[in-house]
Amino acid sequence: MDHAVVIGASMAGLLSAAALHRLFAKVTVLDRDTLPTADDHRRGTAQSRHAHGLLSRGCATINELLPGISAELIARGALPGDAMSRGRNIHGGHRLARGAGRGLDGLLVSRPLLEGQVRRRVAAMPGVRVTAGRTVTGLLAREGRVTGVRLADGEPLPADLVVDASGRGSRTPLWLGELGHRPPHEERIALDLRYSTREFRRRPGDLDGDLLVIIGPTPERPRFGVALALEGERWIVTMGGYGDAPGPALPEFAAFADTLPAPDLRHLLATAEPVGEPRAYHTPAGIRRRYERLTSFPEGLLVTGDAVCAFNPLYGQGMTVAALEAKVLLEAELTPRAFFRRIARIVDAPWDITVGGDLKLPVVAGEPSPRLRMVNAYLGRFLAAAAHDPELAGRFLRVAHLYDPPPALMSPPALLKVLRSGAPRAVPVPA
Ligand SMILES: Cc1cc2nc3c(=O)[nH]c(=O)nc-3n(C[C@H](O)[C@H](O)[C@H](O)COP(=O)(O)OP(=O)(O)OC[C@H]3O[C@@H](n4cnc5c(N)ncnc54)[C@H](O)[C@@H]3O)c2cc1C
Repeated sequence: MDHAVVIGASMAGLLSAAALHRLFAKVTVLDRDTLPTADDHRRGTAQSRHAHGLLSRGCATINELLPGISAELIARGALPGDAMSRGRNIHGGHRLARGAGRGLDGLLVSRPLLEGQVRRRVAAMPGVRVTAGRTVTGLLAREGRVTGVRLADGEPLPADLVVDASGRGSRTPLWLGELGHRPPHEERIALDLRYSTREFRRRPGDLDGDLLVIIGPTPERPRFGVALALEGERWIVTMGGYGDAPGPALPEFAAFADTLPAPDLRHLLATAEPVGEPRAYHTPAGIRRRYERLTSFPEGLLVTGDAVCAFNPLYGQGMTVAALEAKVLLEAELTPRAFFRRIARIVDAPWDITVGGDLKLPVVAGEPSPRLRMVNAYLGRFLAAAAHDPELAGRFLRVAHLYDPPPALMSPPALLKVLRSGAPRAVPVPA
């Protein structure tokens, strides 16, 4: 085939282009933003200023699409690390047991460095052009098939395939209406999730050499805190909650850490030197668009990444799902229907994990089904048991890093361990 056009040069668009360049003579990636030449923040991805963890599975998948990229990122300062042996994971109020790595190798890297390196690699591929300052305003279509895109200046750009990777604000639902198709059903979970972020200088002895702390929300305290070590001897610390977040001033930031159900961030913030400006972010809702359920959809068009599903960002799944979806583009016999069905199978587990976790919190509106109530009650006991059992902790993290599906937590050996542990639903986190 000749020409593919990708709308959006963020992670989903760039990784899609990395796959499409194997199938198309020419791939044009269009972004409305000014794309930085250095590894810098940009307007179109304001989330890059906040803790942005790359799950281990995402790291592995990006390396499949762009072989050797981990080594390139490490050469630029990214830190290799295993989420289990170098991380402090506190979920459901339980500090998970530590253990040797369980195949959870990954990278700690800022979003601008990661996206910058992915962009450099993709832009260097033969036949690929990544172009900035190009806003797509509509689709071209003929005889029920999408044949290209229209740009803001009115210029038509013909293509054999258009991939919409324009993020949660994607206009494909509207464009489908203009072409006489129904928009996809949209599932929404109202989150009102607020982030507040500051960076600090990282010293060798901080957190005894650990590289990450994740303190998840609990029903009693729907607040979270994350600290990730980054290139440039920095910590990025994001804290917040459902409906509230610390104010920008340092004392407010530190006081918020005191309210989290683990003292790790409090200890870190007590001595670390702040650098740069504080930042805030608001995510109103998680959104899933059910393209796989449409009965009519034009040939020549696909949608991917956050444009299909924008998860609760707290779970750090978006880039990993985008990478897994990009790989689907390489599969045989890819009609739009087949593509959407295959990526729906990728999205199902992370969407269930986030929605299940959110509905556990009384502040999130929505009625958990009786099955979800049961699963959440079991998960409470599982996490309590995982506080003392590295094997269970590893199992949980493999699900969180999207290697294994959630039922892996309920396999007979895991179930037996949890039941035998006699673990109560909540135990205090040791200081
Ligand atoms: C606060 C926050 C924290 C997050 N934390 C994590 C994390 O820890 N780990 C993780 O894996 N994921 C995280 N995510 C999600 C992650 O950022 C996204 O999943 C990832 O960027 C893939 O999104 P995307 O490429 O589909 O869309 P986006 O990143 O939203 O990019 C869309 C791109 O399309 C461009 N665009 C939009 N409209 C047009 C148009 N009409 N014409 C041309 N260009 C257009 C935009 O300029 C932009 O570059 C977080 C998200 C948020 C909001």
